[in-house]
Amino acid sequence: MRLFIGIALPATVRQALSGAAKTMESRMPGRYVPMENYHITLAFLGETDADGLARARRAMTCAAANQCAVPLALDRPGYFGRRENAILYAGITGWDALARIDQLLRQELRNVGLAFDPKPFRPHITLARHVCILPDILNAPLPPVCFPAKGLTLFHSTRIDGVLTYLPLAEAVFPEIS
Ligand code: ATP
Ligand code: MG
Repeated sequence: MRLFIGIALPATVRQALSGAAKTMESRMPGRYVPMENYHITLAFLGETDADGLARARRAMTCAAANQCAVPLALDRPGYFGRRENAILYAGITGWDALARIDQLLRQELRNVGLAFDPKPFRPHITLARHVCILPDILNAPLPPVCFPAKGLTLFHSTRIDGVLTYLPLAEAVFPEIS
């Protein structure tokens, strides 16, 4: 099964983003991501068997063990790739602590012997693919929504009746430290 570890987003954040994405879609058509699928990817594991799944759960639990919730906020839109055929994303602010958790998670994945895509962590929420970017969009801030990353989620990326779905398989919550 195709697995990745990421941050699940609260429904309020997904709703706010979906509203912003609809406005952008009217000017920049493309393949927009349904709001149920909005997330932040930390480590992409790819095709993994049941043993790998168990290892991934162990690594997540270790990485999350001494963390506390990370306050994040939506920033501006941005894009990857060529401007004429880009991946449009929502930027995020306040992710320093999340980058440290990602480093820890990647180390724990190495410790349990699991391979993952080694590309550096670029925190973002993908909104659409195959978009031709209009430059003024990049200066328009997204809704000023703040939200906490409360833990790591292991997602199964699969198609259900042909629809791409990210099924949460396991969660490792960051314990509240008072
Ligand atoms: P599709 O591939 O069907 O267009 P998708 O990219 O959303 O859809 P997946 O390829 O399963 O679905 O990816 C799941 C998540 O992992 C997405 O956030 C995606 O951007 C990220 N991802 C996919 N491949 C990689 C990779 N090689 N390295 C890092 N992240 C990846
Ligand atoms: Mg993909």
